[in-house]
Amino acid sequence: MDTDQNICMDESVRPSSLDDFIGQEELRQNLKIYIQAAKARGQAMDHTMFYGNPGLGKTTLSQIMAEELGVNIVSTSGPVLERSGDLAAILTNLGRNDILFVDEIHRMPISVEEVLYPAMEDFKLDLVIGQGPGARTVKIDLEPFTLVGATTRIGLLSSPLRDRFGVICRLEFYTPQELSTIVTRTARILGVDIAPDGALEIGRRSRGTPRIANRLLRRVRDFATVKGGVTVDAELASSALKMMDVDESGLDQMDRKLLSVLIEHYGGGPVGAKTLAVACSEDVKTIEDIYEPYLIQCGFIKRTHRGRVATAKAYRHLNFLA
Ligand code: ADP
Repeated sequence: MDTDQNICMDESVRPSSLDDFIGQEELRQNLKIYIQAAKARGQAMDHTMFYGNPGLGKTTLSQIMAEELGVNIVSTSGPVLERSGDLAAILTNLGRNDILFVDEIHRMPISVEEVLYPAMEDFKLDLVIGQGPGARTVKIDLEPFTLVGATTRIGLLSSPLRDRFGVICRLEFYTPQELSTIVTRTARILGVDIAPDGALEIGRRSRGTPRIANRLLRRVRDFATVKGGVTVDAELASSALKMMDVDESGLDQMDRKLLSVLIEHYGGGPVGAKTLAVACSEDVKTIEDIYEPYLIQCGFIKRTHRGRVATAKAYRHLNFLA
């Protein structure tokens, strides 16, 4: 979902301390305490899990943790760890109290997950050497480390794995005001001249997500540049976003297609995610992980045990009669 270019863009504007990290107040305060306590004891911090929609700051927080704890961070992801040996090689190379960050941890194969259990619990690795009746297990001591997992789907995590995390943090969507502060900060780093109402306009339409806010800012900046380097104010932001097909509520073309398919083809629902995905020619995971959570949060659709249902607000938004 993330292109290399997006990832590079993310890096240049990523906050590097908890004080620079905007929003998620309770989570931030708690993390501060856990980090301080681990530092005071000279121990590895408890294994930590961040979950929430893409672009809400899971990777950023893991890097901030390493920075504030003064340890190294090694990053990998669930699908990359194909064999248990891949994970064993990483674990044996970690230094004392280092962080191992595993993105999309719900996509780790079960054989690899099983290697993690003793590593997380006792900082030990059980390696099987040889095959068949002659195979034997050797235990290898590891340095204490902190596993930081990130996932968009906490529900897909096995309970033995979930239970081994001491800290579990849910990241929420950001408010328009918080996003406007993030946009103002990013604009300062990128040297974009932006008025407060321009930042708020972008913040309002960013689907509660910092990564989207930063992306929209870059595109709006292009419009400002072409107009001769004018200040980004609400009017300019609004007309640029309209040209990019982002509407007043921050819904994009795909959000609106999803709602109109639900209303026009299925009488407003209930309809299952798979059927919706086929009708919209979109991957079901993308619908469930990216589009739906925001549409539910804004009250455009409801999830019932029989499927998705369009709300009166969705009918009004698309000018249909409910
Ligand atoms: P995730 O890992 O959840 O997909 P990231 O941590 O990669 O999200 O964040 C995506 C982008 O949004 C990064 O460029 C990061 O700088 C920015 N970002 C995320 N959360 C915040 C925040 N609270 N304050 C400022 N910028 C943020």
